[in-house]
Amino acid sequence: MFADEAKIFVKGGHGGNGCVAFRREKYVPRGGPSGGDGGHGASIYLEANINDNTLLRYRYNREFKADRGRHGEGSNCSGQSGEDMVLLVPVGTVVFDAQTKETIADLATPGQRVLVAHGGCGGRGNQHFAKPWHQAPREHEEGQDGEERHLRLELKLLADVGLVGFPNAGKSTLISVISAARPKIANYPFTTLEPNLGVVNADGGTGAHGTELGRTFVVADLPGLIEGAHEGAGLGMRFLRHVERTRLLVHLIDTSDSNDDDPVHSYEVISRELAAFSKTLTEKPLIVVATKLDATTDRTRLELLRDFCRREHLEFHSISAATGEVVKELVRSIADALDKIPRPAPDTANEIDAPDDEISDSSSVIQVNERKHVVHAPMVSRDEKS
Ligand code: GDP
Ligand code: MG
Repeated sequence: MFADEAKIFVKGGHGGNGCVAFRREKYVPRGGPSGGDGGHGASIYLEANINDNTLLRYRYNREFKADRGRHGEGSNCSGQSGEDMVLLVPVGTVVFDAQTKETIADLATPGQRVLVAHGGCGGRGNQHFAKPWHQAPREHEEGQDGEERHLRLELKLLADVGLVGFPNAGKSTLISVISAARPKIANYPFTTLEPNLGVVNADGGTGAHGTELGRTFVVADLPGLIEGAHEGAGLGMRFLRHVERTRLLVHLIDTSDSNDDDPVHSYEVISRELAAFSKTLTEKPLIVVATKLDATTDRTRLELLRDFCRREHLEFHSISAATGEVVKELVRSIADALDKIPRPAPDTANEIDAPDDEISDSSSVIQVNERKHVVHAPMVSRDEKS
């Protein structure tokens, strides 16, 4: 099952109602209003969690309603506020508002949190409405509704390097050869194919105490790329969005005897697919790799590709994952290339985690005359119930 996208509904808790009560006690005549305030409804947060790999759990469980605030009580007792709900999502999850399509947050760093549904405010109890001329108020406020939202969650893999190329180019084989001892840090349960993540140790071996790992990077094998992928052919489209996050692309092309496609044509088909999906992909640094060197007796296609890369000023390698030929050199040049590419900053442009903004945004003060102002704000425009 494919689980790198999920739609969920979140609703903040309802605020508790304010209470109407009067102090009634022996020897305390006219004890006055004593209705407590309602508690605030709980809010819902999403948090990036390093131990989660998929959005699978949100496929089965799609509705999340936070705890409500308790009602206020007599003797000026405020109701208890609801306990906030934190939903864990994998690092690399991008959160969209499903209705407006705007990006709410890009949870790219572990522990990063975003508020997605405000709890409703609790209502005030009648103790707040007493005036010298109005000493037995029966006014109180009801708690406000929690915020409701439909969200779309999308997981983008956080790999440094994306392996692209036609099916059978040798991507999976290469990743299994270059990955560290425990190669799969994530195993995505896709329908038939799974893009694998592998951690690669560029400088080989661990230090004396197994601590010095040298340069490491994460490679993703992105299967299913075929002609027309950007329009949804095959599984390509689903994987293409993962490519967007990588810093470097390695394009694998089979130039062995068993494949008599024109390698330059193959290169161009895949490049076109990438460009059609997103322009940012064409701007990514690229290394071209001819694979299955051990099975290449006729080198015409290999040389054709080499010449093409020279003309286009593309870095080129020719490897055999089967025998390990030139694989180490390739890994090292990938690491060298990555050293020169800065890590992208997470996209936090539209993040909303400043609840105060909402109040100031929608409030306004209009001066009617010297002594009168009219204030519009959600906090003051609530109906007072009596
Ligand atoms: P992918 O579809 O790009 O992931 O390609 P695979 O890694 O699954 O490889 C496709 C086929 O090519 C498999 O049968 C591999 O055994 C074979 N293959 C991959 N790399 C090499 C290589 O370096 N030499 C040879 N002779 N065969 C290879
Ligand atoms: Mg494969």
